Amino acid sequence: MTATTAPRHDWTLDEVQALFDLPLNDLLFKAHSIHRENFDPNAVQVSTLLSIKTGACPEDCKYCPQSGHYNTGLEKEQLMEVRKVLEQAKAAKETGASRFCMGAAWKSPNKKTMPVVLEMVKGVKAMGLETCMTLGMLDEDQAKQLSDAGLDYYNHNLDTSPEFYDKIITTRTYQDRLDTLSHVRDAGMKICSGGILGMGEQESDRAKMMIQLSNLNPHPESVPINMLVKVEGTPLDQVEDLDPLDFVRSIAVARIMMPQSHVRLSAGREEMSDEMQAMTFFAGANSIFYGERLLTTANPQANKDRELFQRLGIHPERREVPVDDAVHEAALKEAIQENEAGSLFYDAAAPAANDGRERKPCGLVV
Ligand code: SF4
Repeated sequence: MTATTAPRHDWTLDEVQALFDLPLNDLLFKAHSIHRENFDPNAVQVSTLLSIKTGACPEDCKYCPQSGHYNTGLEKEQLMEVRKVLEQAKAAKETGASRFCMGAAWKSPNKKTMPVVLEMVKGVKAMGLETCMTLGMLDEDQAKQLSDAGLDYYNHNLDTSPEFYDKIITTRTYQDRLDTLSHVRDAGMKICSGGILGMGEQESDRAKMMIQLSNLNPHPESVPINMLVKVEGTPLDQVEDLDPLDFVRSIAVARIMMPQSHVRLSAGREEMSDEMQAMTFFAGANSIFYGERLLTTANPQANKDRELFQRLGIHPERREVPVDDAVHEAALKEAIQENEAGSLFYDAAAPAANDGRERKPCGLVV
């Protein structure tokens, strides 16, 4: 594979709108051609996602069941112990994940929680997995600490266009988000940033969000594109459904505008047919979350994904982090010992009633 389409950071709205306006076959052909120039078209990167602290978030993201502003009946959970996170990471590795993402429903991490998440990063990294976290806003120092601990990726989504943004979130600004992304990049980490479609935005908002993402230089290495999952109790639970073909179009446009980024199918995938997922892979999606709530026992969602991969002739992309066994064995042992001593455990929230809904980490999925 030779990358022949150089990344651009100067897309105009007219140009992007023209992509959205193409006949679908023309758009898909263009996107798929660019995809082939840059990637193995039959390889899909697989990440596993774990919510390490759930619910009671002070932010008011209107799509999110974890926001403390809405009564969704979601079970709030305290920050997980490092040992438990490492068990889940091990299970993720065994089921084929190459990246382990950890999400916490916070405005930003605080002084008590930072040491805990740093131990999680070190422990997961020690297993040879790529590490990713989403913890809300970061300042420069926090970004540096995470980077020094070995965090590979930081997820912080732009969510939508700057123009539509205040219809969705009022407790942090678009610029706050861009600042966090800038700190992440300055600290040397890779960026995972994308958005959510189907929140009542116009197509032009999707175009403007893609422009914001492609203005980041370099482009985000991962671009998660979520389809809104409507959760009862959130302000968006009655919003009109997004046309699935509009979702496919957006994936194709993301692929064209950010040719070397991994474009990830994120939230809403459970509600997509196999045929729609196949179409998005053709349009340029090449990353998924595999098994949303990974347990140490068999995971039906993961099995379903395996079957779909088989039917489509797709294989997981392997990008394992090289491991120096001695060094990482020691780091893992240290993380577990410190956790067992109880020095890092922090009760983030008292448990509340559980309505059986799945946990949804910050910004990565809704
Ligand atoms: S998306 Fe993240 S920041 Fe927004 S309410 Fe949900 S958990 Fe909080």
